[in-house]
Amino acid sequence: MPNDTPHLLNSIDTVLAAWSEKHGLPRFRTQQVRNWLFKKRAAGWDDMTDLPKALRHEVAGEMQLWSTEISRHTQSDDGTEKLLLSLADGGQIECVLLRGKARRTICVSTQVGCAMGCVFCASGLDGVERNLTTGEIVEQMLRLQLLLHDDERLSHLVVMGMGEPLANLDALMPALEEANSPDGLNIGARRITISTVGLPLSIDRLARANATYRLAISLHAPNDALRNQLVPVNDRIGLAAIIQSADEYFNVSGRRITFEYVLLAELNDQPQHARELAQLLAGREALINVIPYNPVAGLPYRTPDMQSQVRFRRILEDAGLQVRFRHLKGDRINAACGQLRRSQAGSSRAGNGLGITQI
Ligand code: SAH
Repeated sequence: MPNDTPHLLNSIDTVLAAWSEKHGLPRFRTQQVRNWLFKKRAAGWDDMTDLPKALRHEVAGEMQLWSTEISRHTQSDDGTEKLLLSLADGGQIECVLLRGKARRTICVSTQVGCAMGCVFCASGLDGVERNLTTGEIVEQMLRLQLLLHDDERLSHLVVMGMGEPLANLDALMPALEEANSPDGLNIGARRITISTVGLPLSIDRLARANATYRLAISLHAPNDALRNQLVPVNDRIGLAAIIQSADEYFNVSGRRITFEYVLLAELNDQPQHARELAQLLAGREALINVIPYNPVAGLPYRTPDMQSQVRFRRILEDAGLQVRFRHLKGDRINAACGQLRRSQAGSSRAGNGLGITQI
């Protein structure tokens, strides 16, 4: 049966304010609920033991805390955990918890599917179904936080799951405020990264609205001809406009921009690509995040061998650029967004481990 009560996580303060007004509750009650959600990691209303029992019972019928169900929960030896969530309308999304030595990073999705059509990516193979709501984005964060052990804390958030975050800025911004707020997850803005295919108008909008988050731009090619092939949406945008917006974001935020580059054997991993990339980014305060391709079953792309990877890296470093190669994480649990959903759907292209990566 569809639940038509409001989803608390969609607009926490508004929903709680209406609730407390309706019941004539003292102010601290709404703060208590917030605390339980974000700090004391309540899994449901019944956990909120300092709310009177009758109130707990009542509130459960007045608003919805969770709007999704966990369809699958996978875990890999390196501590990476991934959730496949079923949305109320049947759509499926993925989100991931990554454990590093000193970090606990969560990765969230912003859309069901993706419209950008990057040819090597599992998320967009069937196009986009819809944008996620703010509540569905916040819910991923809270569900992932619930996976932590008592002595663990979330330290980083990356918006690198399914979908194009800048195509859903309206829902994303309030969700990131909950992540960043001292009353929310309290993750510092410098530890929140939005990864985008590079939509200049939205980058400009973000720069005007809130340039405190880190920006990562998925470049994948050093010239328009090649980028048009790998990232079809580039046809309508072009690298020059993206670099211009990135420069502007850097000017406003003062934060070094990350450029992501998925390395695909023979397609964009040759010495001339590295040289061209170095030229394109010359003189910028930038980090190049090179991601050796994680194979998606059914797609014809290959991961470059180690020799080509090292060669690519050397050329960039010799040109004075800051380079990071990402280490694979969670590849045995299909822990990159788009993969688990496809394997669950029984698709012939189902993934054999695209492997999300540690930031
Ligand atoms: N739409 C956003 C978020 C995508 S996911 C964006 O384009 O940035 C984050 C990164 O993973 C992107 O750089 C994306 O291109 C990359 N990615 C997608 N599929 C991949 C694959 N099979 N192997 C390696 N990286 C991949």
